[in-house]
Amino acid sequence: MLSFILNFPYTSIGLIAGLFSFPKKMAWHTRSHSLILKVKSLWWMMLFMKGGRAITIGHIILLGPNTEDRDLEHELVHVEQFTRMPLIFPILYYIELIKKGYINNKYEKEAYQKARNVYRGK
Ligand SMILES: [Zn+2]
Repeated sequence: MLSFILNFPYTSIGLIAGLFSFPKKMAWHTRSHSLILKVKSLWWMMLFMKGGRAITIGHIILLGPNTEDRDLEHELVHVEQFTRMPLIFPILYYIELIKKGYINNKYEKEAYQKARNVYRGK
C-alpha cells in the first residue's frame, strides 16, 4: 500500500499517457494493484522506444495493438519492480538504460526472464 502511494506520481503520468493512447479496454489486475489499458496506439513511444509493444508507468500498464503472448506478464514484472523500489525505480531504470542500453538493462533482463516473452526490437 505504501509503495502504491509513493508510486502515485508515476501512476498519474501513466493514466495521462493512457488517455493520449486512445484506450479501448480496461481491466483491474488485483494481485499487482494495477490498471491494464488496451490502447489503440502507443504513437508517443516512437519518440524514445520505436516498436515498443507495451509500457508500464507506475501501476498503469498500457498494451498497444501489437502486443504478443506473455507481454502482459513482462509488464507485470515492471509493476513488481515499481512496488519493490517505490519512487526510485524509474530513476534506477533510466540510469541502467543509459549505461547498458535496453536489452542489457538488468530490469528488462529480469522481466524477459520471468515472463519468458520475446524481444523483437530494431
Ligand atoms: Zn520491459
